[in-house]
Formats: sequence, C-alpha cells, structure tokens
Amino acid sequence: MTMSYVERVYQELVDRNQNESEFQQAAKEVLFSLKPVFEKHPEFIKAGILERIIEPDRMIMFRVPWVDDNGVVKVNRGYRVQFNNSIGPYKGGLRLHPSVNLSIIKFLGFEQILKNSLTGLPIGGGKGGSDFDPKGKSDSEVMRFCQSFMTELCKHIGDDIDVPAGDIGVGAREIGFLFGQYKRIKTMSTAGVLTGKGLNYGGSLARTEATGYGLVYFVDEMLKDRGLSFKDRKVVVSGSGNVAIYAIQKINELGGKVVACSDSSGYVYDEDGIDYSMVQEIKEVKRARIKEYIDAKPNAVYHESKSVWEVPCDIALPCATQNEINKEQAEILVKNGCIAVGEGANMPSTLEAIDVYLENGILFAPAKAANAGGVAVSALEMSQNSMRYSWSFEEVDMKLKSIMQNIYLNSKNAAQEYGFENNLVVGSNIAGFMKVAEAMIAHGVV
Ligand code: NDP
Repeated sequence: MTMSYVERVYQELVDRNQNESEFQQAAKEVLFSLKPVFEKHPEFIKAGILERIIEPDRMIMFRVPWVDDNGVVKVNRGYRVQFNNSIGPYKGGLRLHPSVNLSIIKFLGFEQILKNSLTGLPIGGGKGGSDFDPKGKSDSEVMRFCQSFMTELCKHIGDDIDVPAGDIGVGAREIGFLFGQYKRIKTMSTAGVLTGKGLNYGGSLARTEATGYGLVYFVDEMLKDRGLSFKDRKVVVSGSGNVAIYAIQKINELGGKVVACSDSSGYVYDEDGIDYSMVQEIKEVKRARIKEYIDAKPNAVYHESKSVWEVPCDIALPCATQNEINKEQAEILVKNGCIAVGEGANMPSTLEAIDVYLENGILFAPAKAANAGGVAVSALEMSQNSMRYSWSFEEVDMKLKSIMQNIYLNSKNAAQEYGFENNLVVGSNIAGFMKVAEAMIAHGVV
C-alpha cells in the first residue's frame, strides 16, 4: 500500500510534467527513498504531503528584453520557481546559462527545499534564472540584462518573501547589478533581498568560499568516520567556477592533491597539484578558459573535449553541472580505485551512476547534503543583514563547519534509523524531508 502511494504520486508527476526530465529525475530519487517514512508515518499520506510538496507554490516566467552593444534587441526568458516556504522564505540561486529551462529550474528548486531544511536554518526552497549566456558578453551587456531581469523579478521577491543568490553564471558582478536595480526600483536599500553581495554593501565574509569549503568539510567528515582523510589523496574536481575553486583550495589545506579540473571545453591535468589561485585568476578575474592554465604551468597538460573522469583519482568531486557523471563514467571511477565521490554541483550524477557507487562501496556524499554550505552561509548573510552586523571570516567559517558536521550526522542517523545504514542518499532525503513535512502538517492543507 505504501509502495503504491509513492509510485502513484511519482506517476502523476510524470504525467503532469512531461518533457521535464531533470525534474522527474530529481523527484524520482527523493520520492522513492522516502518510502520507509510513509510506512512509519501514515499521517503524511493522509495529509497529502507528497502530492503537495512536488507542486511548486508558484512558477513565474517572464520576458527579459535587453539591447546588446550593437543596438540589437535581444529577448531571453526569465524564471523564478517559488517551491515551498513552509519553514522560511523561499531561498535559492539564480542560474544564467543557455541550457536553462523550466525543468532545470524545477529540479533545482525541488532539491533546494530539502537542502535548505538540512542546514537547520529557517529557509524555504526556490530557484530561478534565465537562458541568457553571460559568456562572451561585455560588462555593459550583462548589466543591461540584469537590470531588465530584476525589473520583473523585484515584484516577486523581498527579505521575508524570497531571497535569491548566485549559481552557475551568477557571481559577485551579477549580484551587484541585480541589487542596484532592485534598490533603484523599490527606493530602498534593503540588503536582505539578495545574498552573495559584495562585502561593502552587506555581503558576508566566507560566502564566496562557502560551497567549496562546505563540500570539503562534509566529505572530510564522511572520510573521518571510516578512519580516512584527504591527506595524500589524489583528487579530481570538475568545473573551475565558484564551487570548484574553493574546494581545491580547502583540499590543498587538508593535505590532498587535486590533479585535474575542467570547464565545458576540456580539462587540465597537473601532476604537481592544481594551483587554485591560478584557476581563480583565469576564471574569476580574466573570465577566460581553463586552457590558459598551461601557459603559466608548462608541466600541466590540457585535454580538449575530454571527460575529466578518465583521470585516475582516490576522490572525485563533481563541481560543474547536472548529469556530468553517467553510468560508464562511474564505472571508470570504480575501475580506477576511487573510494569517495562528493557532489559539489547539483545532481551531477545520473541515477544509474549513483547505483554504481552504492553497489561498489564507494563512499557517496549526495549534493543536497554536501553542497548545502553555500545556502547555509547565505542564510547567515541574511542573519547578519537583519542584525546590521558582520561576523569575522573565522566566525562564519566555524559556523559553516559545524553546520556541515551536523548535516553529516543528521543524514547518517536518519539512514540508520530507517534501516539504510551508510546510505546518505536516503539519510539526507529523510532528514531534510521530516522537518518540512511536519511544518506542512502544522499549517493545514495550504
Ligand atoms: P560557476 O558558473 O562559477 O562555474 C561553473 C563551472 O562548471 C564552470 O567551470 C563551467 O565551465 C562548468 N560548467 C557549467 N556548465 C557546464 C556544462 N554543461 N558542461 C561542463 N561544464 C560546465 O558555477 P558554480 O561553481 O557556482 O556552480 C557549479 C555547480 O554547483 C552547479 O551545479 C550549481 O548549481 C552548484 N552549486 C553552486 C552553489 C554556489 O554557491 N555557487 C551552491 C550549491 C550548488 P564553463 O565556464 O565552460 O561554462
């Protein structure tokens, strides 16, 4: 009977959200792992929690017109999916990438509900973005796009309503332009409306580093639990953006060696260990391609259009994008003796790849637990904004570390409690879900 509840709701989701493969994939992983919860809590079935949690509170889609440097009118599509605010205001990043569509924003928004709950902080789930491609655009073009995007978005967000942040393609530059336009239209400078802000107008120290650091803290906890560590381990990190850069920095600090990182064009291999500050310079300052790394480090090798997962490693940290590791790539990791995978990106492993990890005893840190450090520090940024105060880097970093340790413990304990020892996929889904489900029951059918 319980089986049929989850299966029925999932089938309804598939029927109602046809052609949304990413949303279906994210929901499938979560829904099926929650089966044991419904056996123990029939009140959740009675309250229709699953039927309600998979349907966003609202989805906003809008035209984003802007004019490029040649005077040509361009039109992109903007999205904000406000998924669930049972435990706090909607919170989740904005993604600017040509691949963005409703399915991708819904998968990210859905994941965000449980991830935000796992942080232990009072934030609900949402996500947004646009199919605008910031790559190759001038600063002025990016500014005009951001101003147009915010002109519509500002009607739907606010400190206690919905607080967007960065994601792929949205860093300090974009958040600055978005904030400027919000402030101008609303005639108010209210820092709490966006996170990931610059340090001189309400940003939090350690927010830039938070997702990468948090990922490494989480994986370190998972390793320590087995008497292992990053020390002298060979690590491969995919991507070379915000999450990847600070993951590399923290791994170096812990004595590990990152031998490769990538972008969407290819990967660099550096047997001396990737120098994170060089990647930072190339990607954050020059906004160039990772290929340039070999100009400064002649011993490094660049491989165009090749998968970084062919590089043998002890620990793999996918930090680029969804579905970047499929079954075959997961099998290569196993063959090369990989002992742990930690997801910095959202849903970087396909469902089949996850099966390969679990069947082969690879320690697996799933995204919604392992990359929750970014949103956790975003929530700490909101707290500092409310208090009109700022904590030191060390204070924020210490809180981040303790949040990641708690997420690990809570996920591990939930897995154990429901008979899935060592399965952090099940554990993190259950631990994140329980708090939201209980809040939804308390609020009645809304
Ligand atoms: P950035 O835009 O800073 O960097 C993204 C990196 O991934 C770039 O190196 C980019 O290469 C690469 N990449 C993007 N799309 C693809 C693709 N289709 N194929 C191959 N490589 C690709 O983004 P972030 O570092 O902020 O985000 C990375 C991941 O982490 C995303 O999944 C995001 O949702 C997740 N995440 C981010 C958080 C944050 O705080 N920023 C918080 C939690 C999760 P290129 O330059 O060639 O496009």
